[in-house]
Amino acid sequence: MRIDIVTIFPTFFDVLDISLLGKARQSGLIELGVHDLRDFTHDRHRTVDDTPYGGGAGMVMKPEPWGEALDAILDGADDPVVVFPSPAGEVFTQRTARELAQEQHLVFGCGRYEGIDQRVFDHAASRARVRLISIGDYVLNGGEVATMAMIEAIGRLIPGVVGNPESLVQESHEDGLLEYPSYTKPAVWRGLEVPPVLLSGNHGAVDAWRHEQQLERTRAVRPDLLS
Ligand code: SAM
Repeated sequence: MRIDIVTIFPTFFDVLDISLLGKARQSGLIELGVHDLRDFTHDRHRTVDDTPYGGGAGMVMKPEPWGEALDAILDGADDPVVVFPSPAGEVFTQRTARELAQEQHLVFGCGRYEGIDQRVFDHAASRARVRLISIGDYVLNGGEVATMAMIEAIGRLIPGVVGNPESLVQESHEDGLLEYPSYTKPAVWRGLEVPPVLLSGNHGAVDAWRHEQQLERTRAVRPDLLS
């Protein structure tokens, strides 16, 4: 998969050099391009924002640098999806991650300030599939953290990125429930015991216990998922 990111803070994405996604890049499973929006400005101050038409607090990201940055990425690209992180977008879920993991080319446009001039979304939508996506009902300072969260969730679903694909199947949200609690050695730690069924060697009983734990946890913490 090819991933391009447009941001005014390119170094934010240096962390994509490490861990599983770093390895995925080294092995060629993920190809990454990080683009500094200010490289597409033409004034001495490399200006990317201006005051909002109609008044109001804060600044809005100017359309011209965004237009040039997206032109540079999208010209000649093969059916990419452009994702603009936005608290006003559809909510990102495991299903969204699965959908986007099927794509060959994702482009993330990280907003700052009060957001990006609406015409950038409208113009991008005339030449590519565009999705405005929120990572939750709260407001961040910029799209970088949201982009990182989405890339991590999407990246681990790309075949070969996570060593054991079995571990992806058993996770929270994959079957609509939260994951069961996990334990490792020692069997007793600070007086706290591992549930005996996990030491029984009875795989059927372990599966049944885990499923019951999933239901119990989901009922307690996220009853909305059961409905
Ligand atoms: N004025 C905007 C609004 O009320 O919808 C919020 C702008 S926010 C301060 C600046 C940028 O942070 C947004 O353009 C977006 O890229 C990003 N952002 C903030 N919260 C987000 C969220 N929950 N999910 C995804 N992106 C978010």
